[in-house]
Amino acid sequence: MFKMRFNAISESLRRNRIIIEEKGRRSKLFGTQVFNDEKMLQYLTKDALESVRGAIFSGSKIDRKIADQVAEAMKGWAIANGATHYTHWFQPLTGSTAEKHDAFFDLLPDGKGLEKFGGGQLVQQEPDASSFPSGGIRNTFEARGYTAWDPTSPAFVYGTTLCVPTIFVSYTGEALDNKAPLLRALHAVDEAATAVAKYFDKNVSKVNATLGWEQEYFLIDKALAYSRPDIILTGRTLVGHLAAKGQQLDDHYFGVIPNRVLSFMSDLEKECTKLGIPVKTRHNEVAPNQFELAPVFEEANLAVDHNLLLMDVMEKIADAHNFKVLFHEKPFAGINGSGKHNNWSLATDTGINLLSPGSTPMKNLQFLTFFVNTIKAVDHYEELLRSSIASASNDHRLGANEAPPAILSIFIGKQLGQVLDELEGVSQGKLSPEEKTELKLNVVGKIPEILLDNTDRNRTSPFAFTGNKFEMRGVGSKTNCAKPMTILNTIVAKQLKAFKKEVDVLIDKKNLKKDEAIFNVLREYIKTSKKIRFDGDGYSEDWEKEAKRRKLSNNKTTPEALQIMTGKDSIALFREMKVMSEIEVRARQEVELEAYILHIQIEGRVLNELMYNHVIPSSIQYQNKLITNVNGLKEIYGAIHKKLTEGQLNIIEQIAEHISEIKKKTDHMVEARKRANTLKDLNKKASAYCENVRPYFDEIRYHSDKLERLVDDSEWPLTKYRELLFIK
Ligand code: ADP
Ligand code: MG
Repeated sequence: MFKMRFNAISESLRRNRIIIEEKGRRSKLFGTQVFNDEKMLQYLTKDALESVRGAIFSGSKIDRKIADQVAEAMKGWAIANGATHYTHWFQPLTGSTAEKHDAFFDLLPDGKGLEKFGGGQLVQQEPDASSFPSGGIRNTFEARGYTAWDPTSPAFVYGTTLCVPTIFVSYTGEALDNKAPLLRALHAVDEAATAVAKYFDKNVSKVNATLGWEQEYFLIDKALAYSRPDIILTGRTLVGHLAAKGQQLDDHYFGVIPNRVLSFMSDLEKECTKLGIPVKTRHNEVAPNQFELAPVFEEANLAVDHNLLLMDVMEKIADAHNFKVLFHEKPFAGINGSGKHNNWSLATDTGINLLSPGSTPMKNLQFLTFFVNTIKAVDHYEELLRSSIASASNDHRLGANEAPPAILSIFIGKQLGQVLDELEGVSQGKLSPEEKTELKLNVVGKIPEILLDNTDRNRTSPFAFTGNKFEMRGVGSKTNCAKPMTILNTIVAKQLKAFKKEVDVLIDKKNLKKDEAIFNVLREYIKTSKKIRFDGDGYSEDWEKEAKRRKLSNNKTTPEALQIMTGKDSIALFREMKVMSEIEVRARQEVELEAYILHIQIEGRVLNELMYNHVIPSSIQYQNKLITNVNGLKEIYGAIHKKLTEGQLNIIEQIAEHISEIKKKTDHMVEARKRANTLKDLNKKASAYCENVRPYFDEIRYHSDKLERLVDDSEWPLTKYRELLFIK
């Protein structure tokens, strides 16, 4: 008898809601645990404050003396807020965050204790980094890596630890993390976008990329989650028959938030608010036990840090409320998976959203400039952008029958489409006064009104323009947003740089006025980037065929999608924009391939264990019961038993067939894994895992799920979908 499942169910049913008290306003609570501008004003000398602000605004260096001052101030503030330790908080290529805590406490030679934290410890640290993935960088160069303070993301006290956001690089300067390339990409887009924004307003001196992520997740009772080895080891259910009821009634989406979940959310939001994460929206998502949280958007680097911190806080708070939070993109078959829409825009230091039209024709031309350049950038680099969100778990969404498709396309809506169509007709070279007036009044001038009722949002589009921002929807719920944000900002930077060059040539050499030159270049971009624009149903087969005709990439699996990273064009792009060297790009591809292989390998092993140790034994146990029953009936009824045992015999046979298929396929899967493991080339190995190992998962699952339907409920060992998804 398997007890785990039933113990878990009774435990989950005994749970009480933990009441979370909330006193006072959230706005008062906001950022109380963050060493933000307000605290700096309080704790730093004028010189130190200016130096840190300069580093934030223009990336200027902070000298050692100032760093000492900042560290001293930070220490004082952190200790006053309950901190006993400090850590450099960084983002290794594992995708999540890492930290190693050191106590402020130190000993003086005379044996007395004191609290110490100097500029040296603030600015740089050397964690023992040998166990983080580096894609060979550390083997080839230096074995050591170090973390370095990122002053653009404020330090914060989390629990009893002062966390200092840092980048993680090798001693030879190669980035070993996700933050360093992101910061470089943000610098590139700042430079390129500022130069272009100056066409419209000379006062612009900085452009920030903005990011507002929407985090989807599942919340499962802790005891139930821990009763499933697959959830604990792989983050998803590898087997499980669908519950009779799924999401078909649409009664969960935006429905009343269950009590226990609401307590969890309040607690989480309180903690986030203190940590300066501007959480705003919470609601039920489409699938049962699926939810979403969204913040107010922020500068992209800070938003990325906040998303990573949120995921960490969520796991801890969930645990306190006896939940397990699942960030996997597809924890349950047959119902919706989870994503993390990345809403992205560009904002100037003068307070203008460059993807928002304004009140004058010139402001609208500015909008069009950034709008069309983004389209052009995504058109050229669609495959690279797709690669930035590739992972074994996200393959269950992109490319499977799930939102959105693996093909990248842009939705802009009918009205904006018409505006671009009209701009395509702009004359080459100088524009006549009539044409200028016509453009101003009837094309560019009408944009704000158009956008007001541009509400027909296409939910199937992977990259949609939603009024004043683009929304990238293929990002996985588990993915570190730094990856897609690095690529998106790099390609837009590259595009804006090219645009500026072309416009300047027309102004300087062809004597065109600024707006004429801009119209001329945009016209060409509109013409040459049409293939990426698609307003129809992104899930349809027709689109797949059409996209193929348009020569858009359609990489459904991670090993395929990652290839483009090291293509000539990509490497040249990263080098030119100073975002990554060839070594850094190759290292990342290697790390991603390796992660893919390991994920599939672990899933294969867990599946093997589930079949041999859980599914097959319990099925046999039930089969034996039936056999005993048949034998008993035979004893009692003799010759006429056949009629009485027909049903039982049929079930006995069905069980036998499924067991035999499971055994055969599981053994084949193990063989395929062994063969794949002999391959030295990482690309080939990842492909072998993808093409030869992974397909067994569904085949095995099919038979296991059939057995779940046949076997006596009281004998079934694995907690069922209806329990995981409907116990709240
Ligand atoms: P939904 O996509 O669910 O309909 P909204 O369109 O209301 O939701 O916006 C979702 C997210 O978009 C929010 O997290 C918000 O902060 C973000 N957002 C809004 N404006 C911007 C912007 N200019 N830059 C980046 N993100 C933004
Ligand atoms: Mg959205």
